[in-house]
Amino acid sequence: MSLQPLMNTYNRLSVAFDHGEGAWIYDTDGNKYLDALCGIAVTGLGHAHPAVTKAISDQAGRLIHCSNLYTVPLQEQLAEKLTTLSGMDNVFFGNSGAEANEAAIKLARRYGHSKGVDCPTIIVMENSFHGRTLATLSATGNRATQAGFEPLVAGFVRVPYDDVEAVRQVAEKNTNVVAILVEPVQGEGGVHIPAEGYLKQLREICDQQEWLLMLDEVQTGNGRTGRYFAFQHSDIMPDVVTTAKGLANGVPIGACLARGEAAKLFTPGTHGTTFGGNPLACAAALAVVDTISAENLCQRAEELGNYLVEQFRVQLGDAPYIREVRGKGLMIGIELTEAGTELAVLAKVKGVLLNVTGGGRVVRLLPPLIMSQSEADLLINTVSQLIRVYAGDERDS
Ligand SMILES: *Cc1c(COP(=O)(O)O)cnc(C)c1O
Repeated sequence: MSLQPLMNTYNRLSVAFDHGEGAWIYDTDGNKYLDALCGIAVTGLGHAHPAVTKAISDQAGRLIHCSNLYTVPLQEQLAEKLTTLSGMDNVFFGNSGAEANEAAIKLARRYGHSKGVDCPTIIVMENSFHGRTLATLSATGNRATQAGFEPLVAGFVRVPYDDVEAVRQVAEKNTNVVAILVEPVQGEGGVHIPAEGYLKQLREICDQQEWLLMLDEVQTGNGRTGRYFAFQHSDIMPDVVTTAKGLANGVPIGACLARGEAAKLFTPGTHGTTFGGNPLACAAALAVVDTISAENLCQRAEELGNYLVEQFRVQLGDAPYIREVRGKGLMIGIELTEAGTELAVLAKVKGVLLNVTGGGRVVRLLPPLIMSQSEADLLINTVSQLIRVYAGDERDS
């Protein structure tokens, strides 16, 4: 048997992209697609955003990399912007969401040891996704992600998502718990939005128990849900926040932000990275952060997201094959009553990129924050019709 030169980690659709512009992406045959996936919540400013292109090109011509053994002014500038935006105290930069979460997990363990807890444990959620490294797949609440990689990293205890009582019960009996790690909206799990007040109640428990509240905003951050960070919808401050996906519009970067006690735990030699926060990635991220505020894109995400959910409800809300249409800003899920994995391929044929998650039942849309009204209308009509045809409710036109 001859093997393909790429390791077999993805079931890829048979399309290759050549270039993009704004909300549109073009394949190598010249076909165009409305990109309602954004490389999974990464290219929030759309493709080839001029501010990002310029920042990257200018920086590539000056200095791409120099090592964290030296002062990196762009990293300091980006840290300054992100801490101001979030109210957090400091940042560690890595290259991905998983690495940002690894930093958070390491912080929680150091926090535990600083309090004399020898076997520090983190509460994580069912149905969560935190990444593919050993610690983050162990934190992830999906057996398929973990199967075959045992032994898993120890020190996690799992409870149902959006269930404060379950967290209280763990607090009563487990004295090793030092932190909670939770997504403000579960993305990979199927766009699950917790009840109003969930984070606030978790914050209260963390305060009582002296636990760290650690939010995985790898997907929800960077304007995606209608605030720069999703926790800013609720009146709380976390101890640790991680982000990555949308932070540099496609240039790899991850960030772990910390506040208070958690911001003092790393010291030289306790954590590090070769590439993390290099000048190129930071220049791209600075352009993204500046563009999001200059163009009011958080507000845009909220308004456009509300419009999309409202219109999808009008078009599909009453259909018997739809369980629920839900969204927070531009994280939108259309939950079907039965699996509809093929919809990603069918949508591609109709010129729309989306994906299906949550056990194959949730059509997930993550459109760019810069999507226009007419592009949004095209998305609503195309996807609604696609689902109706798929369910046998309408004939293909
Ligand atoms: C995508 C994602 C990750 C993993 O990020 P990578 O950059 O793929 O390592 C972690 N947490 C959440 C919530 C994510 O959506």
